[in-house]
Amino acid sequence: DAHRRHDTFVRPTITFADIGGMERVKENIRVNIIFPMQNPELFQAYGKSAGGGILLYGPPGCGKTFIAKATAGECQAHFTTMAITDILDMYIGESEKNLHEIFEKARLRTPSVVFIDEIDAIGGNRHNMQNSTSRILTNQLLVEMDSTQNNNRNLLVIGATNTPWFVDSALRRPGRFDRILFIPPPDLEARTEILQLHMKGKPAEAIDYQSIAHQTNRYSGADLKAVCDIASESAIKRAMATGKIVPVTTDDLINALRVVKPSTIEW
Ligand code: ATP
Repeated sequence: DAHRRHDTFVRPTITFADIGGMERVKENIRVNIIFPMQNPELFQAYGKSAGGGILLYGPPGCGKTFIAKATAGECQAHFTTMAITDILDMYIGESEKNLHEIFEKARLRTPSVVFIDEIDAIGGNRHNMQNSTSRILTNQLLVEMDSTQNNNRNLLVIGATNTPWFVDSALRRPGRFDRILFIPPPDLEARTEILQLHMKGKPAEAIDYQSIAHQTNRYSGADLKAVCDIASESAIKRAMATGKIVPVTTDDLINALRVVKPSTIEW
């Protein structure tokens, strides 16, 4: 049920090393987020608090959730994820209570990272969401973020959206989601890395990653993962036929490109 879904805090084991590309994003998060989270006293001495809010935006499947989780992994922080639409589905009065509970739990488990997906689904900028539930929820989120900020809590809130222009402007003020990072579709180099990461540890034979990367313009990280999964399935079929472990080949990956199509548009 909806209530239980949000109760789970995990301690992610993935780190930035598991993410292909995004060098600039990683550097930005290292300097502005991870360093303060690891050295909160140092920042407090200058009247600055660790944590706060950042907003990630970009096309679907390009690693917003993944990098949020890896950020928690880098800080050895607790991590929880929720989608605004799940919370909005609750009974009147339940949604803001639930949001408050999630933040209460996060404050008891610092350092912690709260990931909020589809942050554009609340607030005043989207006409179909101009209802009171969504306004109340926006206000509750503002209260939670302001109190976190004022108490120097080591709690980071990461919001994600595909449509940053719909995010309520009140949420983008200082002390709230004041840092906005673009998570781009992977470029050639990033695609090579992502393919290698998703083939790591699997039986594979001299795969021409460069060539596949060249043929996967506009493929998201999630698309590339699907390509690797489908290529592996082909090898598994051969393995089952022969009863022996056989490697995944470049051809398996090329064949998978006929099944998986690029999902990002030009950004
Ligand atoms: P959405 O907007 O649809 O929620 P998202 O941007 O949050 O998408 P993720 O859910 O983080 O995307 O990515 C989906 C999966 O794709 C990840 O779990 C991961 O396996 C893979 N992936 C995406 N980007 C990368 C990357 N840069 N390196 C390695 N794997 C990636």
